[in-house]
Amino acid sequence: MLKIKNIHTYYGNIHALKGIDLEVNEGEVISLIGANGAGKSTTLMTTCGIVPAKKGSIEFKGQDITHMPSDEIVKLGICQVPEGRRIFPYLTVAENLDMGAFLRNDTNEIKKDIDYVYSLFPILAERRNQAGGTLSGGEQQMLAISRALMARPKLLLLDEPSLGLAPIIVKQIFRIIKKINEDQSTTIFIVEQNANLALKAANRGYVMENGTITLTDTGANLMANEDVKKAYLGI
Ligand code: ATP
Repeated sequence: MLKIKNIHTYYGNIHALKGIDLEVNEGEVISLIGANGAGKSTTLMTTCGIVPAKKGSIEFKGQDITHMPSDEIVKLGICQVPEGRRIFPYLTVAENLDMGAFLRNDTNEIKKDIDYVYSLFPILAERRNQAGGTLSGGEQQMLAISRALMARPKLLLLDEPSLGLAPIIVKQIFRIIKKINEDQSTTIFIVEQNANLALKAANRGYVMENGTITLTDTGANLMANEDVKKAYLGI
């Protein structure tokens, strides 16, 4: 579904991605793990056209999207939940969800999707008339994921869904990420510092260091890998 080949990305003189190769197959949950500053967020932002690639290519469902504007990429079905959530704080929960569906006009299907996200996260249904900015961090993450789902993405990109959240909320969010993948066959690409949960949820994973991919394998094999255990799992 997604083929990233030899991607190089720069911020001025900083060479953030140094020839990344990565593939995501339809229906998979893929996790990209790595330390602070390894280049995980840059990989996501380059994929969705927010930060331009200087070299290499990105294909989505056979189409070259390397230099496509990010709004066109969204229309193809790639949707990102950015690090730090970035919901609309002054809009209500319900209005945030409406914003997620702004490219759609299939009113009945939109209603079904609203019911679906409220079934995933009942707390959002309870808080539907509350301003997004008044929600807890965990609820805002739930809203950010739900808003992205309202676009009916084929590929959902999640940037650090665990960031700043209590462990119990993080577990709940990862359980639901898995459920979304199973219920809707949504392909999911997660970038995460919480390697333990990210690899548990993933069919396959990639490990990133200093702008390069250093390891790739099934989630289970990476969790059993001695280097990964030492560096990322604290075992
Ligand atoms: P984190 O978990 O801290 O978000 P990351 O693995 O996602 O880390 P990136 O945010 O992709 O890493 O950063 C990769 C490299 O690019 C780092 O050296 C970082 O300092 C640099 N970088 C990221 N964003 C910018 C920016 N806007 N301007 C300049 N350098 C940047």
